[in-house]
Amino acid sequence: MTAAGQNIGNVGNSGNVGGGGALACYASHPQTSRGRRHAQDKAPTRNEFQRDRDRIVHSAAFRRLMYKTQVFLNHEGDLFRTRLTHSLEVAQIARSIARPLGLHEDLVEAIALAHDLGHTPFGHAGQDALNTCMAAHGGFEHNLQSLRVVDHLERRYPQHDGLNLTFETREGILKHCAPTNARKLEQQDPGGVAARFLHGGQPALEAQLANLADEIAYNAHDVDDGVRSGLLTLRQLEAVPLLAHHLASVRQDHPALDDRRLLHETIRRMLSHQIYDVIDTTRAALAAAAPASANAVRRHSAPLVQFGAPLRAQLDALKHFLLQKLYRHPQVCANTDLGRRVVRELFAAYCAHPAQMRPQFATRADRERAVADYIAGMTDRFARREHARLTACRLLD
Ligand code: MG
Repeated sequence: MTAAGQNIGNVGNSGNVGGGGALACYASHPQTSRGRRHAQDKAPTRNEFQRDRDRIVHSAAFRRLMYKTQVFLNHEGDLFRTRLTHSLEVAQIARSIARPLGLHEDLVEAIALAHDLGHTPFGHAGQDALNTCMAAHGGFEHNLQSLRVVDHLERRYPQHDGLNLTFETREGILKHCAPTNARKLEQQDPGGVAARFLHGGQPALEAQLANLADEIAYNAHDVDDGVRSGLLTLRQLEAVPLLAHHLASVRQDHPALDDRRLLHETIRRMLSHQIYDVIDTTRAALAAAAPASANAVRRHSAPLVQFGAPLRAQLDALKHFLLQKLYRHPQVCANTDLGRRVVRELFAAYCAHPAQMRPQFATRADRERAVADYIAGMTDRFARREHARLTACRLLD
């Protein structure tokens, strides 16, 4: 953990365009952006990535994240993470790593804030259910859906659908893409954001960083929410090497701490550990690979933003623990099963009666995709209300 305060090599003389520190040569530079789908004049005072971030914050899809489930259903408690607070934590972590690495902070923030825009209500259970419903109609992927939101579904501008974001932000949003969907995107936009899923290569460093920041955020906040909910205990955490290490160090420094402060300080140290590990490991990888530009980064066969191998192994053990003890906890599963049922029954109801949807969805020719777009955009509580209205059956209260 030696990263704080070190100088970086290869820093270009780009002024303060990164929103914080100077940009490295391998960072994404707004002046050399691959541009927007619809040509647009430059803004007088904001760089292009800053503008993307601002568009995302003002979108309806972003506000809906407030009422979408992360792990605990949105109505279960006011202090659990939602998709919105998760996305804000991802952005905070991503920015705090971007600055010492000389990456573009506004770009990494834009990607972080947009990365979950395509998530359905009821967390992964909702997504799985919608994917099953759409099996015969091209399936449903939340990363692809996030791109659909910013490219097509937001309706705010007179001249075009979507938010008309830069290539670099869209590249970061499309974190994964199945080959069949990548081929469709590639047909519409050759050499665009889907090309790397067909021909190999990496996204820019800011996209790689937003991806790891997502993992850092949920590893930490799911432990916090898990203990807060009573589904995980401090005793259980002691069986996970990474948590055991930080719990022991906090107890040694503060022997009389109450459980809540003990947990917070443990999570704080675990977060710092991950952040400094990524900064140090990535600096070493960048020094070895010496990419001269963002495009040189894209030609690499593996991501350059990474955890060191020992921490990677510890994080895999933590993820396994969270999967077994939290995400598959009977209480979590009982709620997510209900969420799955709501999505399934809403899908059937709207396919049978499209006029029950809002007009811009009801009138579309691609009925099943329109239904999927409509349901994916719903907050948990709107989905519950619609389910009650359409099926005369109240669930999840
Ligand atoms: Mg996420």
